[in-house]
Amino acid sequence: MTVAGDNEFRPGEIPDWLGAPQARLRGSLSAWAQAELAGVAADGGDEAARAAFRKLAGRGVFRYVVPRGSGGIRRRVQVRDLCVIRETLAGVSPLADTLFAVQALAAWPIMAAGTPDQQAAWLPGLAAGRGMGAFALTEPDAGSDAAAARLRGRRRGGAYVLDGVKSLISNAGLAHLYVVFGSTHPARKGKGLSAFVVEAATPGVEVKERIDLISPHPIGTVGFEGCRVPAAQLLGQPGQGLGIALGTLEALRCSVGAAATGMAGRALAEAVRHARRRSQFGRNLSRFQAIRFKIADMTTDLEAARLLVYQAARAHDRGDGDLRRKASMAKLFATEAAQRIVDQALQIHGGRGLVAGSVMERLYRDVRALRIYEGTSEIQRLIVAREVLGRP
Ligand SMILES: Cc1cc2nc3c(=O)[nH]c(=O)nc-3n(C[C@H](O)[C@H](O)[C@H](O)COP(=O)(O)OP(=O)(O)OC[C@H]3O[C@@H](n4cnc5c(N)ncnc54)[C@H](O)[C@@H]3O)c2cc1C
Repeated sequence: MTVAGDNEFRPGEIPDWLGAPQARLRGSLSAWAQAELAGVAADGGDEAARAAFRKLAGRGVFRYVVPRGSGGIRRRVQVRDLCVIRETLAGVSPLADTLFAVQALAAWPIMAAGTPDQQAAWLPGLAAGRGMGAFALTEPDAGSDAAAARLRGRRRGGAYVLDGVKSLISNAGLAHLYVVFGSTHPARKGKGLSAFVVEAATPGVEVKERIDLISPHPIGTVGFEGCRVPAAQLLGQPGQGLGIALGTLEALRCSVGAAATGMAGRALAEAVRHARRRSQFGRNLSRFQAIRFKIADMTTDLEAARLLVYQAARAHDRGDGDLRRKASMAKLFATEAAQRIVDQALQIHGGRGLVAGSVMERLYRDVRALRIYEGTSEIQRLIVAREVLGRP
């Protein structure tokens, strides 16, 4: 965090201890994102999403979501990189951040559970941005309770036939491939879930509905009807799907916190700028103690959030223990803190903060989803409590 003279306030610096490669990545990506993405994200249409996706692919950011052997940058995927990228993108274009995040969500299960042939078939395309991925776990009756997924996968000779519906699926209708979680043994409940890679062009895959959220985010409901998927597209063994899904979410969870710090950092910078420029009662807003205390609390919240996020990312990359607790604490605290920070930043802007299309109004809408997707705040609390106290 740099706190400097009147013209300079940069809340978006990553901790010194994170690592030189991540500091370099932050420096180079930040300038690029400002120049290339700032104008893209204002509307939520498919063309805006495709344009942002092409830019991200051209910049090579998707190469951070797969290992070098599959067209990636690093020998092993580094969650610190993913967090740096998400924090940087989210501060400029939440839409670009979403596209990056979902590409990582699609690549991770293939990287973690795929055979060498499966990895060779799909990961280089995801890394190059030739194909867009999606991660299809949630169903109308299975949200937080992912083990309740009912999409059915029946073995028929050398294939599985999928039938069911996935809801709230990011990139629905835009994705080229979906990683789909469905039940191959319903009697075993969660232990009967399996993971499949399903190409969007497969007969029986149909986007049933596109959903408009409060902020730009391509998302919708995808149906699978008599959808025949070669058994060679099963990831891992039958029954390993829930472990693959939860392992993916656990690995990437702190990156949601990173996106939150990106949005919160932007909101804080906007609030500081506004407080220094706006005067009421013959004084600059930045001289009122009520405003100064808000800025102090926002700054403290942001730095604490960032420390938890990068602590969890580093723990993952080093293989430290206690990762589950750290990842959930990072997601929980950072997304809740970001909501507080954005709300206070808008308050400091007064009525101007509510003007449709303004930076503050957009951030106010953008930040909300982070407390819900990839495990709600309540679910993160359940995980942290379970790690501390054991199962009730
Ligand atoms: C922007 C966005 C993008 C998304 N993208 C994807 C995607 O790409 N792929 C995908 O599979 N899904 C995606 N989702 C779905 C997301 O993962 C779910 O919305 C989330 O898991 C919560 O499920 P739900 O909405 O069904 O809420 P519910 O599970 O119905 O929860 C409703 C409320 O009850 C609370 N609750 C539930 N269980 C408990 C409990 N045991 N104790 C205490 N409180 C509880 C929740 O915290 C929440 O407040 C996305 C969602 C959003 C908003």
